[in-house]
Amino acid sequence: MGKIRTVLGDIEPTALGITYMHEHVITHPPASVTDRDLAMESIAAATRELSHFHMAGGRALVEMTPRDYGRDPLALREISRVTGVHIICTTGWLKDAFCRPWTEERTINELAEEMIREITDGIDDTGVRAGVIKAASSLNAITPAEEKVFRAAARAHRETGALISTHTEKGTMALEQIDLLRSEGVTPERILVGHLDHKPDLNYWRAVARTGANLGIDQIGKEKYQPDHLRIELILAMAAEGYGTQLCLSSDLARTSYWPSYGGWGGPGLTYILWRFLPWLRERGLDVQQIEAMVIATPARLLTLNDV
Ligand SMILES: [Zn+2]
Repeated sequence: MGKIRTVLGDIEPTALGITYMHEHVITHPPASVTDRDLAMESIAAATRELSHFHMAGGRALVEMTPRDYGRDPLALREISRVTGVHIICTTGWLKDAFCRPWTEERTINELAEEMIREITDGIDDTGVRAGVIKAASSLNAITPAEEKVFRAAARAHRETGALISTHTEKGTMALEQIDLLRSEGVTPERILVGHLDHKPDLNYWRAVARTGANLGIDQIGKEKYQPDHLRIELILAMAAEGYGTQLCLSSDLARTSYWPSYGGWGGPGLTYILWRFLPWLRERGLDVQQIEAMVIATPARLLTLNDV
């Protein structure tokens, strides 16, 4: 039976507990990112926020910051140790605007080798190992640089059994991402397509789910994009059609202003899903088992490194 690879080492899937599948704990975005609200650099604030998450029942987060967006494996290890929250960190790259300088001069196999090294040996000389693989596309397009990352992600997946977790821009290109990974031998059951609640369209979600892929409903609490009552309606409809075990919930809180722990009355923070969104789903008729599938069983299944 495979294990789950956290920043502190491997754990049994049954030890994972309530998990958000797409968050950011520490980010050091490149200088080209002029909106500095996106720089989440305080270990003290992260420790506070993850302590609140733990108090609310949360036990694990997948930290989806890749190298080209300023990943910080040593900080993650320290924060995990202090708060007791399992953190799974990622290898791979972000969308074209970020990954191009890192990928342009390198072959697909060289990119795959780096991913495999980060999963099996560790990130640089930190000793921290990645537990998921990230690949990303742009708005309505998969650029040549992004395609290289997807193909490399597939090869790294075939070697390590790690989940491929994607970024879609505004929810677009989900089916194209799946097709591309499939053409490299990835089964859709080992893909988590991110940010689908940017495209709150039941037919679209159904089409993704029918392939066998998993859906990231990971903008919860960001009502400036979509109101949460719409997310609730879609989740209920998907669960009623039998797709509930392919849904993952998260908030992708990648700004200091999304966390109360940075001061300034920011929100919704990492407790929102547990203390507001899940009770709302329960009130609307999802049973405990259906809820626990989305936050416990499915994350454990997806994060387990498949035997290869
Ligand atoms: Zn993200």
